[in-house]
Amino acid sequence: MKLGTYGNVIASDEQTREDTFDVTNPATEEVIATVAKATKSDVEAAISAADAASDSWAQFDSGKRVRLLLEIAERVEQSVDKLAETETLEMGRSLGASQAQAQKTARYFEYYAGIADKIEGQTIPISGNQSVLDYTVREPYGVTSHIIPWNASMVLAARSIAPALAAGNSVVAKADENAPLSLLTLGKIINETEIPSGVFNVVTGGGARTGQQLTDDDRVDYIEFTGSTETGTAVMKSAADHITPVHLELGGKSPNLVFPDADLEQAATDSAKVFWNTGQTCFSPTRIFVHEEVYEAFIDLLITEVQSMEIGPGMENNTIGPLITETAVERVQSYLDDAIEEGAKILLGGNRINRSGHFFEPTIVTNVDDDSAISCDEIFGPVVTVYKFSSESEALNRANATDYGLYALVWTDDLDRAHRLAGKLEAGTVVVNEYLFASPNAPSGGYKKSGIGRTKGQQAIKNYTQLKNVVISVDEQ
Ligand code: NDP
Repeated sequence: MKLGTYGNVIASDEQTREDTFDVTNPATEEVIATVAKATKSDVEAAISAADAASDSWAQFDSGKRVRLLLEIAERVEQSVDKLAETETLEMGRSLGASQAQAQKTARYFEYYAGIADKIEGQTIPISGNQSVLDYTVREPYGVTSHIIPWNASMVLAARSIAPALAAGNSVVAKADENAPLSLLTLGKIINETEIPSGVFNVVTGGGARTGQQLTDDDRVDYIEFTGSTETGTAVMKSAADHITPVHLELGGKSPNLVFPDADLEQAATDSAKVFWNTGQTCFSPTRIFVHEEVYEAFIDLLITEVQSMEIGPGMENNTIGPLITETAVERVQSYLDDAIEEGAKILLGGNRINRSGHFFEPTIVTNVDDDSAISCDEIFGPVVTVYKFSSESEALNRANATDYGLYALVWTDDLDRAHRLAGKLEAGTVVVNEYLFASPNAPSGGYKKSGIGRTKGQQAIKNYTQLKNVVISVDEQ
């Protein structure tokens, strides 16, 4: 990709190597693009443009806003192959999975187009007072900043940008320097529509602490961050300095509970999907608790399923691609080395793969304590830990014994048990007998240190609007 104009960030012809950073293909370690670093003044320009555009976008005819969002959806649909290829090349996921993500990206714009002209308030009857008309309206915040991670850039960008635009906010999105290209491409698609200038802006990183600048500016009225709990804490501290509303979707260490009454083959097949995206997914159910009666049978099925997954470059449509960087490979290895020293048993995998690229074997580990680092930390790699339990209450307590609470998975044919556990598991999403239910319509988010607030569905429109109560004294004569 050539240096160029993305939104309001302009890479000038005179740029030197110091002004740019390389994007590499994690499957081959080859440089695939050189991208302009955002300077402090680029970020400043993007925030100023969003600020200048925000009033007129808030007043923009809602019917036209619907049509614009539909046009974005249509253009994304037409660019599915290009977007998918770009994201696979820069972050390694299988091409088929990237195509599904690009389709979902389009679907987010379509879904929120359907809501953009239906953002309504209420009339509030005031008891015993007929001379007052009380009603509420939902108004956009103004400038919203969106710090998007590299592990699913385009779909996570669409998830937060589409409702922000639909609700009448202007946007400055930050593309992660590990994999900025698909979001930059999406930004280009959005800005090729008739969207008014300044309403949508995308900036890169790589230089002047772009993320921090986007959370530390008084003109930013709402902050959305997806990433680690550690950085989320820093984002929240910045937001506190400006009393800016903040929505955080952070790490996870989700439990997966397998009961003896479950369809064991289905449970094993679906549980193996934790290795999709090479485990680089926040909701990944990486702690698998299996009832003692079916423990051995489940492990055999799981290993067989994982062994059938092809590992290799995403462009060749392999199920398991590389990790994002060499640092990520070293991080995974270090968790495993420490666990082995503490007595862990590796049931499958455990090693980096001897080829170019950042490949690591899908790894199943057992014989680890619930409070060990490998059991507690978000590893963000192809590693699951498996534990044996003997009762439902034991499984529940151990599943909940984590700082995180993004997602929980249960395998059971007992409806009473499913309902009981859905009520007691401490997670923003509980799924029974299905690997993942991730529709744009359904809200998701984290309990505990997995975040604040919910994304998706109609809830996202509530996030991106502030409620105003209007009270009018009415002359009764
Ligand atoms: P981080 O959580 O560190 O986020 C990096 C992003 O945050 C960059 O865009 C960076 O931009 C920005 N940033 C850093 N500091 C600040 C700040 N003080 N204020 C505002 N923005 C800031 O993710 P990493 O990619 O480094 O991944 C580290 C770990 O995070 C992973 O191993 C994984 O465990 C987890 N993760 C979780 C994800 C999820 O989906 N929940 C997604 C990605 C990672 P800049 O440097 O320009 O300021």
